[in-house]
Amino acid sequence: MKKILNYINGNYCEAVSGKWLDNYNPSTGKIYSQITDSSQEDVELAYQAAKKAFPKWSNTPIEERSDILLRISTLIEKNLDALAEAETRDNGKPLSLAKSVDIPRASSNFKFFAHAITQFASEAHESIGRNTINFTLKHPLGVVGCISPWNLPLYLFTWKIAPALASGNCVVAKPSEITPVTAFLLCEICTQAGLPKGVLNIVQGMGSTAGHAIVTHPDIKAISFTGGTKTGEHIARTAAPMFKKLSLELGGKNPNIIFADCEYDKMLAVTVKSSFANQGQICLCGSRIFVEKSIYQQFKTDFVAKVKQLKVGNPFDKDTQIGALVSKPHLEKVVSYIQLAKEEGGTLLCGGEKLTVNGSENGYYVEPTIIEILDYKCRVNQEEIFGPVVTIMPFETEEEVLTMANSVKYGLSATVWTTNLNRSMRMSKALETGIVWVNTWLNRDLRTPFGGIKNSGVGREGGFEALNFFTEPKNVCIKY
Ligand code: NAD
Repeated sequence: MKKILNYINGNYCEAVSGKWLDNYNPSTGKIYSQITDSSQEDVELAYQAAKKAFPKWSNTPIEERSDILLRISTLIEKNLDALAEAETRDNGKPLSLAKSVDIPRASSNFKFFAHAITQFASEAHESIGRNTINFTLKHPLGVVGCISPWNLPLYLFTWKIAPALASGNCVVAKPSEITPVTAFLLCEICTQAGLPKGVLNIVQGMGSTAGHAIVTHPDIKAISFTGGTKTGEHIARTAAPMFKKLSLELGGKNPNIIFADCEYDKMLAVTVKSSFANQGQICLCGSRIFVEKSIYQQFKTDFVAKVKQLKVGNPFDKDTQIGALVSKPHLEKVVSYIQLAKEEGGTLLCGGEKLTVNGSENGYYVEPTIIEILDYKCRVNQEEIFGPVVTIMPFETEEEVLTMANSVKYGLSATVWTTNLNRSMRMSKALETGIVWVNTWLNRDLRTPFGGIKNSGVGREGGFEALNFFTEPKNVCIKY
């Protein structure tokens, strides 16, 4: 059976304990590899390697660092097919999606930060009349920890690692134990690209052990975490008293608000994607759909018809649009929310059942599900389901829909469909989220600040925000 190893100081190694965890293929439900079950001892080895590599890496000229990151980006592109297939096998997402989104974006993450670091400048403040100049040095932090989730495995893993490395830090990173494989494949790419030993160390294993050891390590200076809000709370509670820098990208329950004056066909096509892309397992999916009353019946008919046409199947099949959910426990969680929706008075408009796919009978499939449910305060409308399940409900006024949209504890993203410019501005200002998309969805420019408010997180990723996070500003004041 394939073994997924740790990558420490440029070498592959088993966990010190010699323990292994099973890794499942979600499209078949079968174990197909094993990963190291790392613990505090492995994290310590990774930390020591990173610490040793830091003085040289942090003093490596920016052009050289940038060149190495560009080579990693190119090698990811060159290995697109192999990485995409690995991602699909590990995660259950359609191969077409892994090829067109996940892996290209992982490559772009390295390319973007390889370029961004060459433009990351310090500020200087001349105090005229006082013969004084202040300038800001931006030092890398040292050894930093990056912890990522399973939904966009290589995409989000690299989104953290690339800015951390670009700004001169050494990294101890942990991918999700549910999707460890592409991070493992990245190790070979980093070696080939000439990344010096110890600059990036990847420890595989559980969050409660390996992840916890990263968060509690006294000399790991910052934690960049993406995952669930509950885990984020735990990490904040643990790391804050140690005065670590924290970037937390957490859960969402995003509204998709559709006004009658929208470009209807475009809205409908994108709404199908924003509801069900990646089996609804994107933190940015619009899982609560609010539709202006005058077009509600029309939307309901058209949306249900389109969703019924979506092809659920083996993620390796060319025409599959919805693959398998990532794990059995997650499948059970999603199905339990569909049951809860019924108990809370929801009407199933389509889907709602687990699905058996020919040839992949034990895979974790569930039909794309639309639930009409009017109570915006019920649990199904308040809690993150993170699967192919959306709710729909009508509204009459902007005020009403804002109350409903903002009623959740989350505040990651929102989508608004309208051709009225004034309304789009009013809504953008009033929505309590870190990101608002108007007449589009998941339209990303990597320079923009990315992140949520309320229980969706603390801090921003992307562009110079990420480089600021991974550096410590030091002001130098000179009197001349
Ligand atoms: P999770 O919180 O269970 O796990 C995320 C990572 O944290 C994994 O690597 C896990 O091993 C690790 N972890 C778990 N417990 C830990 C602990 N005590 N200490 C340190 N590390 C620990 O999340 P998940 O189920 O993998 O991912 C799904 C969640 O991620 C959803 O809530 C989704 O909304 C969120 N998410 C957010 C964003 C965003 O940008 N805001 C993006 C993607 C996913």
